[in-house]
Amino acid sequence: MNEFDLIRDVFQRQAAQSLDYSTIRCGIGDDAAVLQFPPNQQVVTCTDTLISGRHFPENTSAFAIGYKAVAVNLSDIAAMGAQPHSILLALAIPQKLKENKGWLTDFAKGLFSCCHEFGVQLIGGDTTRSDVLTISVTALGYAQQCIYRSGAQVGDVIAVTGTLGDAAFALPEVLSGNMCTLQHRLDTPTPRVSIGTMLNGIATSMIDVSDGLIQDLGHICYESSVGAILHLDKLPSHDCLSKLTDDKRIRLQLSGGDDYELLFTYPSHVTLPQSDVAVTIIGEVIEEKGISLYHLGKAYSYHHAGYQHF
Ligand code: ADP
Ligand code: MG
Repeated sequence: MNEFDLIRDVFQRQAAQSLDYSTIRCGIGDDAAVLQFPPNQQVVTCTDTLISGRHFPENTSAFAIGYKAVAVNLSDIAAMGAQPHSILLALAIPQKLKENKGWLTDFAKGLFSCCHEFGVQLIGGDTTRSDVLTISVTALGYAQQCIYRSGAQVGDVIAVTGTLGDAAFALPEVLSGNMCTLQHRLDTPTPRVSIGTMLNGIATSMIDVSDGLIQDLGHICYESSVGAILHLDKLPSHDCLSKLTDDKRIRLQLSGGDDYELLFTYPSHVTLPQSDVAVTIIGEVIEEKGISLYHLGKAYSYHHAGYQHF
């Protein structure tokens, strides 16, 4: 299969099936895609690269790789309080995978599965050969206004969606001997799209938790010039983590990566509307810089950082 057949067979045909012509003047097939966003909307865009062996184990299923490449980008768009709209896919693929129609079909299934779940369209990309499988997805979204990391105010509460530490729990070195599986939380994370847009106009700051809670909360604190108190006994946990010791659980939840939950701040007097995912208040924004950790009312000392990419 040459490059053009591959694009046409695996991506263009499927993308065309769900193309929304009201906002996409031109999708795959020309030199560039052309979009017509609704009036008075800001365009929100981000890109994330997944490299085989670095961001996922080499034996990860093709479906999971395709799904996750989209999900991590939609999570970033959601973290701005924006509505995801479309993606571009830059695929650098080893020759042996390019000739493996089964692998490509499964990869595309995963990719389109995440796209369809969140109403997102594939509008273009690039396909090249490389020794190492590398997938870059660029996502586009829109919002009338965005939620930044820099808006947290002293007195705000700190909240998080879903449960924390699930993806880290699913890593082979943690999982060994454990019967409980959270593999799906590592392979096919759920970008919190609907609550992300719902929080627009309510949350004062927001970030998605991709590198561990402590590091990502640190980004909010730094950008907002504030500090934080975290109550470690309040961190929302999946049942699978309940058999771990407190210290082990806390370590996964504070420093484990790949959660893709939303971490946000909002004024303490506000009652949040109902949402499709649980929200848990885990701390407060304070004036004094730094993050102070408490467990069952007592100060908790902790010396591990978050996930480092380099
Ligand atoms: P050019 O040479 O002008 O860059 P290409 O041959 O790379 O054009 O791409 C042709 C069309 O196919 C473009 O619309 C491009 O966005 C799309 N495309 C290429 N690779 C992919 C891919 N992996 N996924 C989706 N669209 C792709
Ligand atoms: Mg090209």
